[in-house]
Amino acid sequence: MISTKMKEMVEQSAALSAMFTEGKRLAEIYGAENVYDFGIGNPNVPAPETVRSAAMDLLQHTDVLQLHSYTDSSGIPAVRKAIADNLNRRFGKAYTEQNLIMTVGAAGGLNVICKTLLDAGEEILTFAPYFGEYDNYAKNVGAVLRAVPPNPPDFLPDLNRMAEMITQRTKVVLINSPNNPTGVIYDAETIAKLADVLEQKEKEFGTSIYLISDEPYRELAYDGRQVPDVTTYYHNAIVVYSYSKSLSLPGDRIGYLLIPSTVDAFEDVIMGAGIANRVLGFVNAPALQQMIVARCCEEVTDVAFYNGNRDLLYQALREYGYECAKPQGAFYLFVRALEEDDVAFCERAKQYRLLLTPGSAFGCKGYVRISYCVARKTIEQALPSFLALAESYQKK
Ligand code: PLP
Repeated sequence: MISTKMKEMVEQSAALSAMFTEGKRLAEIYGAENVYDFGIGNPNVPAPETVRSAAMDLLQHTDVLQLHSYTDSSGIPAVRKAIADNLNRRFGKAYTEQNLIMTVGAAGGLNVICKTLLDAGEEILTFAPYFGEYDNYAKNVGAVLRAVPPNPPDFLPDLNRMAEMITQRTKVVLINSPNNPTGVIYDAETIAKLADVLEQKEKEFGTSIYLISDEPYRELAYDGRQVPDVTTYYHNAIVVYSYSKSLSLPGDRIGYLLIPSTVDAFEDVIMGAGIANRVLGFVNAPALQQMIVARCCEEVTDVAFYNGNRDLLYQALREYGYECAKPQGAFYLFVRALEEDDVAFCERAKQYRLLLTPGSAFGCKGYVRISYCVARKTIEQALPSFLALAESYQKK
């Protein structure tokens, strides 16, 4: 008999697994090239060549014992220093290795910081639509995840509603920009206002409210947009970063937590996060991947490819009558479903061999997410299916 909590998670994961199974089933019937899978966020741009050469060089020239050792649970100091230097250059900061904890991707970082900060029953406030795994991360530590309702059409955070929903028990406010699934970037003005509200609420309740900024898509910003640095606006901000999307290394499981010295109980948070990395069973982020990203953290992400995908898909979908905002970052389009029931809409899309993700998986019914980190050819070939799907609703 598995635990009650896990039983719930198994049931909730069933819909996701069904989607994968259905994808495979359709691929067997029609051939993989005739099924258009816009369901997952697995980057289609190859990792930069420097990643491969760094890996080869490290494997050939590093002492074998050192290469495969456990590292500090916070990560290798020289790696953390290299990343701190990179951030200092880019954002005019003065971080040291003390401010960084290497993690098993953003997922590892989020779990580590939740374990570090939250007691059972304390609240995490986030904004719908949100990455569905947040529910599980909250459950892992017995915290309560509450979501501020979606704010269409621009999907910027509804700060008045946030202010109403913050309570004495709110320990964490969790944001994600550039956003999965909407592609929205929270601009500097929004972050500044959000920070003001949090500061007021900290005073009102006499509590610490940590702003956790989940930023795996930080480098994926279009049209010259800048993603504001949240730590400049709020003293209690912590950044969760990952190389999964920026360097196309999702399977390598590498990222970091940036914990500025200004956060409340800084020493405890840093110590706690190192220990959380260990006791959650990560022990340390993968040693070889740490060494690779230290050498490759200056690499610039190939945004042009995704930008091309974005333009092609967005323009075509608008022409066909779909409603959606042009994404400013990440690699997702969040489109209004052509019927109220987004799950039924995704079911109908399958008849056109399109695999989409219902907005309800992100706490936002009536929309679907289209993940465009796919080959250009997939989009080109899928366009007639998107058109036929839209027309099937006009005929009704
Ligand atoms: N946060 C968001 C918003 C994501 O979209 C993802 C992955 O898609 C993650 C976290 C987890 O990323 P990682 O692969 O670095 O664990």
